[in-house]
Amino acid sequence: SEEKSLNFIEEIVENDLNSGKYETLVTRFPPEPNGYLHIGHAKAICLNFGLTQKYGGYTNLRFDDTNPVTEKTEYVNSQQEDIRWLGFNWKNELYASDYFDELYGFAVKLIEKGLAYVDESSADEIAALKGTPTEPGQDSPYRNRSIEENLDIFTKMKNGEFADGAYILRAKIDMASPNMLMRDPIIYRIKHAEHHRTGNKWCIYPMYDFAHGQSDSIENITHSICTLEYVSHRELYDWFIEKLEIFPSKQYEFARLNLTSTVMSKRKLLQLVNENLVNGWDDPRMPTISGLRRRGFTPKSVREFCERIGIAKRENLIELSLLEFCIREDLNKTANRVMAVLDPIKLVITNYEKGTEDLIGENNPEAEDGGGTRVIPFSNELWIEREDFMEVPAKKWFRLAPGAMVRLKFAYIVKCEDFVKDENGNVTEIHCTYIPESKSGNDTSGINVKGTIHWVSAAHAKTAEIRLYDRLFTSETPDAEEGDFKDYLNPESLTVLPNAYIEPALADADLESRYQFIRKGYFCLDRDSTADKLVFNRTVTLKDTFKK
Ligand code: ATP
Ligand code: MG
Ligand code: MG
Repeated sequence: SEEKSLNFIEEIVENDLNSGKYETLVTRFPPEPNGYLHIGHAKAICLNFGLTQKYGGYTNLRFDDTNPVTEKTEYVNSQQEDIRWLGFNWKNELYASDYFDELYGFAVKLIEKGLAYVDESSADEIAALKGTPTEPGQDSPYRNRSIEENLDIFTKMKNGEFADGAYILRAKIDMASPNMLMRDPIIYRIKHAEHHRTGNKWCIYPMYDFAHGQSDSIENITHSICTLEYVSHRELYDWFIEKLEIFPSKQYEFARLNLTSTVMSKRKLLQLVNENLVNGWDDPRMPTISGLRRRGFTPKSVREFCERIGIAKRENLIELSLLEFCIREDLNKTANRVMAVLDPIKLVITNYEKGTEDLIGENNPEAEDGGGTRVIPFSNELWIEREDFMEVPAKKWFRLAPGAMVRLKFAYIVKCEDFVKDENGNVTEIHCTYIPESKSGNDTSGINVKGTIHWVSAAHAKTAEIRLYDRLFTSETPDAEEGDFKDYLNPESLTVLPNAYIEPALADADLESRYQFIRKGYFCLDRDSTADKLVFNRTVTLKDTFKK
């Protein structure tokens, strides 16, 4: 196999392990439980868990749950399920909210060191003194409160004596720093809100910057990996660790995944769900891990995608077709080939007198174990695709037309003798004769035909609903468009074909099985299926059909 070069984070890790800086590699995946995980998170999951699979050590799952208003236990559960589905196991399940006591203690320690103060300025007043990137800010009038007074008010904040917004706690750093985040950042705010784990125990909550790095440090995380937006936070991350004299976790930043024709912020995905613009977080059109799973993606294909896009230091935009390539490649080896007619029209074989016979179909010629075979019932009345017949054939048309011959996959060559139309001029039935000597695998007819079409026996077929999906957005970059991203939703992202016919073998399909419907793409059973009606999702077409 080809030797892969190291990505820049692997290089850092190898150096740190080789130099003895750390004995054990410890990483974490730190989702905020404010939505379902998406394919961007999959990149971070593969990176963090992949490092400790490769270099030893372990990875924690830490829920970054310091914002009580947006977080829910439903999301905690779905996020765990999605990480497991991707194939990863965490060492410890942890919650930033479990550190609220310790974080409070850290805040007190900073106050005692003269490095934090309580401010009662309004948000506007604070903003007015913040300065600009080119001009220094000015000190708050409350910056030089005594340590005793700061401790007293902060205790009262914690005890619930003040309304939301009455006071905040700020780190006392440098109002002239070129890094705006270092200009006395807010570290605690009052928020009388119930938390999904700590209930009403707290009415003050730490800000992201005061929670994340300290949580890393509490867990002895060696390499805290995050996306590029946090580059400017690193100085503050290091400052807190230095002043608190705690374990020196280090932050490293990589480029987030951006994917064409979709959006990836949980906040935006939540809007699509809440406004019923999709059918829930696991709608097969969503870029969520649960949506991809329901669509028929395999964990392996998602991991392969993350491997292929790599880890870089600069932002880029990845084509959705690369994700589709990865699932096609996987399913090509693993999915059985079956026949399903999505838009049916009746084909009658007028000279077939056997009534019915069992034919043999290969399951998957690409399978490593040969794939085996199955029985496919054949009879004198079949369903074929409406699009496989043309009353007036185009040039180079190799499928059915009056007088034309075609092979029925796994069966016989047939010749179109006639067709029937209804009063509206729609073709309703095609009449053919078959060549008895042309049976697949035993063809002595000497007839060569160029076209092969799929079919199912009308008497044996099961009915199914088929759902076809297209891109969720018409714009390649809906986030970057003028106006609201939702204005660029693709009105044709879902097509439902309610009256498809499938091979009887598919009646045994389960939610884990994936199929290639010959000529139509890769499909999987949807959980909306009932005993009466099976529902299949198209995962992906056989070829890249995106119009560029
Ligand atoms: P979102 O805005 O989608 O909610 P987030 O970064 O706020 O993203 P978190 O739950 O905080 O979501 O993310 C958990 C981890 O996943 C973080 O380390 C974050 O950097 C990483 N992550 C989130 N989105 C992406 C992405 N598009 N590509 C790579 N990593 C990502
Ligand atoms: Mg976040
Ligand atoms: Mg977010």
